[in-house]
Amino acid sequence: MKFYSLNNQNIQASFKEAVIAGIAPDKGLYFPEEITPLPADFFENIEKLSHHEIAFQAIHQFVNEDISDEALKKIIANTLDFEFPVVEIEENVGTLELFHGPTMAFKDVGARFMANCLGYFSQGEKQDVTVLVATSGDTGGAVANGFLGVDGVKVVILYPSGKVSEIQEKQLTTLGQNIEAMEVSGTFDDCQRMVKTAFLDTSITDHKKLTSANSINVARWLPQLFYFLFAYQQAKSKGKEIVFSVPSGNFGNICAGMVAQKLGMPVKHFVASTNVNDVVPQFMEKGVYEPVPSKATISNAMDVGDPSNFVRIRHLYQNNLEQLRENLSSYSFSDEATRAIMKEVHAKTGYVMDPHGAVGYLGLKEYQKSNPDTFGIFLETAHPVKFLDVVEETLNVSPTIPPQILKVMDKKKKSHVIATYEELKKYLLEN
Ligand SMILES: *Cc1c(COP(=O)(O)O)cnc(C)c1O
Repeated sequence: MKFYSLNNQNIQASFKEAVIAGIAPDKGLYFPEEITPLPADFFENIEKLSHHEIAFQAIHQFVNEDISDEALKKIIANTLDFEFPVVEIEENVGTLELFHGPTMAFKDVGARFMANCLGYFSQGEKQDVTVLVATSGDTGGAVANGFLGVDGVKVVILYPSGKVSEIQEKQLTTLGQNIEAMEVSGTFDDCQRMVKTAFLDTSITDHKKLTSANSINVARWLPQLFYFLFAYQQAKSKGKEIVFSVPSGNFGNICAGMVAQKLGMPVKHFVASTNVNDVVPQFMEKGVYEPVPSKATISNAMDVGDPSNFVRIRHLYQNNLEQLRENLSSYSFSDEATRAIMKEVHAKTGYVMDPHGAVGYLGLKEYQKSNPDTFGIFLETAHPVKFLDVVEETLNVSPTIPPQILKVMDKKKKSHVIATYEELKKYLLEN
């Protein structure tokens, strides 16, 4: 299977080339040239399959030219060694808990899959690959953890100083080895701009192989479709049409869910739930895409003003807004509404939602108002302890800190403070 650039479909790459380059030479995002539905009996008999078997069958067509079946099985086994439960918190509402991995965010799946692919591809290569990544919070930790100790790969993570939670910062600044953290005096958008500039800068790329581990990279984006299938496997017996509500920032996660649907997974509808960074809800309403600078919120991993994966979603629908609206709704919620629903759900059910999951819950309920006879699943994209201050001050509870978080809390932060692109460039050229 080839991947083409969304700017020009004549520009094509193999999976391996797309993973190593991150982005196409014309700066377009890579997209699979075909998505062939899985056989109907895959979905009819999905209860009988293990997570590893589901993942293997789902991703096989996209990677099989470059990865042997045996190696793919190993990559999947290294990626998926934790649980993905759907927890029913009230009638017709379940939460897909994606936080049981090593950094307690859904990004562990994509980051580990990509790290394993890149490790596989760099066997026998002379030149190291440098992974350059901007994070608004959880990407950094997941990427740092996934790539730690991978031979032939160096990782440089940019994050906005003072704008990620303490736990998030610890997760990306304390590991050492092949992981370096750049603390940028600026916003997430500034970090993302610096990364994009570096990819275009031939005075760097002439000397260094740079790639991105943001969800623009197909090896991080596509494996996210796995857990939509795991959720379907669990919710199928409800006998109702299924709706997914996905708390969205860069829109990679929800777009992967839509690819699972193209593979034949029965889904009635998707809901893209956002905080006040509402470029997509606005687009769905007005049909005009207007990126704006991001605003800081309590669901900071979704503070994105120009979601990079939304072009992939539009492409899935051939840029036909009417057809897209039939399958996707998008709603935006304030911090006040988010806090209020965290309190309400906790009081009614005892369930502690993190602020991102809470935005997902709100979007699901909005959709179910007019579609009550559905089974709704909202994605809990991070464990509540990752947003400890918000959860504590909103709910007056102190969730128990799990061991994988405790492990990093006492470690010493190590970062390079930078303010300009020139400083990043200097670092990359000298190291
Ligand atoms: C990254 C992240 C999101 C947003 O996911 P996208 O794929 O960028 O839409 C939502 N919640 C949490 C906790 C995240 O870390």
